[in-house]
Amino acid sequence: MTVCEPGSGGCAGPWLTVVSGPSGVGKSSVVAEVLRRWPRLFVSVSVTTRAPRGGERPDEHYHHVDRATFTSMIERGEFLEYAEYAGNFYGTPAAPVRQALAAGRSTLLEIDVQGARQVRATMPDALLVMLVPPSWEVLHGRLSHRGTEDPAARKRRLRVARDELDAAREFDATVVNDDVQRAAQELISLMAGMGRRTPPSGLP
Ligand code: 5GP
Repeated sequence: MTVCEPGSGGCAGPWLTVVSGPSGVGKSSVVAEVLRRWPRLFVSVSVTTRAPRGGERPDEHYHHVDRATFTSMIERGEFLEYAEYAGNFYGTPAAPVRQALAAGRSTLLEIDVQGARQVRATMPDALLVMLVPPSWEVLHGRLSHRGTEDPAARKRRLRVARDELDAAREFDATVVNDDVQRAAQELISLMAGMGRRTPPSGLP
């Protein structure tokens, strides 16, 4: 098996990995830890119509745009995938992903299940990983305590979360986020195992 050495060029590749999981499962923390261990990994910055949350730095967590801008990006075919999630649009700009893969950088997308399905359809060799909570109660608690959504938005996200967890069987692997360090290491190991797969194809 190919050994992935974060910080020294990363895994053989370039490879594309998708990480999905319900809101509140801790995707951002796990991805941040993966990036800390593997600085050469390219993590795509999504475009969204969602209003910035407190603490979100523009163009670092997301590129925040209005709906008209998002729609014209769709029309110009600039997205690798996009979806509407809980009333807002989110999309992965194709060009930076294409450039990263062409430059030999393994690439990670943190996107929702609808987006993961689109990537599966257009790039069947991509690795799809679902991050899941240790239990439903833990997810409920995390979403309530982070306090970034009002009660109605939280309820909507919990409803979506049930459907997302049901989709886990469509994914190549499931990682339980019982501990951020452990989950990040498991994700890196899965990505390292991709050395045996054929490179992704089908980029727009
Ligand atoms: P949040 O508003 O909590 O940052 O994100 C809501 C959901 O949208 C999360 O499941 C997140 O993974 C997903 N998401 C973020 N960026 C993208 C994207 O570019 N495409 C898609 N399809 N989903 C995204």
